Amino acid sequence: MSVYTRIVIREWDKMHKQRKWDFNSLLMPLRNSEFFPPGKEEISGRWIMKEDAQLRDVMEGVNLRTLEDLKKEEGRIFTGIDIWRYNQLKQFVEKLTKPLRTRKEWNEFEKYLEDRGDGKHSTAKAYKALTDLDRKFKLKYIEKWEKDLGVEWEEHTQRKIYRMVHENISMREVEMNFKCLTRWYVTPVIEHKMREEKQPWCWRGCGGLGTMYHIWWECPKIHIYWAKVINQITIITGMEIGLDPEICLFHNSILSGNKYKELGILCYLNAAKNLIPKFWRKVEAPSEEDWMNRVDQIARLEKLYYIQEDRMVTYHMKWEKWEEYKVKVKKGTE
Ligand SMILES: [Zn+2]
Repeated sequence: MSVYTRIVIREWDKMHKQRKWDFNSLLMPLRNSEFFPPGKEEISGRWIMKEDAQLRDVMEGVNLRTLEDLKKEEGRIFTGIDIWRYNQLKQFVEKLTKPLRTRKEWNEFEKYLEDRGDGKHSTAKAYKALTDLDRKFKLKYIEKWEKDLGVEWEEHTQRKIYRMVHENISMREVEMNFKCLTRWYVTPVIEHKMREEKQPWCWRGCGGLGTMYHIWWECPKIHIYWAKVINQITIITGMEIGLDPEICLFHNSILSGNKYKELGILCYLNAAKNLIPKFWRKVEAPSEEDWMNRVDQIARLEKLYYIQEDRMVTYHMKWEKWEEYKVKVKKGTE
């Protein structure tokens, strides 16, 4: 088996697991496949002689072919080890999600596997068919955010969101951004589903249902907080960024990525967003002061980074307006 074919099979396995496809196909590759539990793949692989053996090669309809039948095809006497391997395969087939998909339901990739290509650039074609297929599948948390926000993210938007989530000097910020995107946090509604005695209502006492969207955006208390932060960002940067959850939570702004970063908007919004889990289960939402302290922490961390990188000019360009703003606020409170 060529190394490229192996890569395609690995991708197929990976997508199947990651996307939790709720089907199994008769085209499932048998050799070098990670579908088999650890240690078993080689055993089944060696036994089945064909390089590109698929599940359908050992199946009759949706049932495993009999040992007699397979013996006949192999044209040799089976020993004890063959019988043991057959039993392993049997166990594996029994555990597969039923029903197995048949030809009618096959997608482009599966159809490709059925023909096994015309030999020309076959691995590349298989890989393309597979990645095209993968694009059609959206991750569950992306689907849930889309539903909450009433939007549909195109592929390029999704890519942009992923990029922006990871755009940060501080790994802690990246981690918190990612946890928000993947809906990692436990809300009252989730808690209520896990244990009935837990109340599903927002802990901020607004009377609303404590859904993920409510806690991060819709709750009146958190909405006031966002409005204040956005107002301050406009004062600092002179840019109207809008009170929009797609921008505040996922940085899906019409501004170019570079402009967005240079103006520090990325840091200001991350500071605001990542304070929400800091105030998890608390009655009060974060205050403007909490937000300013958080931004200041980020600025200090960036300063250390830029000193080390010997790029203080970049630091000053980015944080100059923030420093001016801080002085103004200080004067105002004195
Ligand atoms: Zn609330």
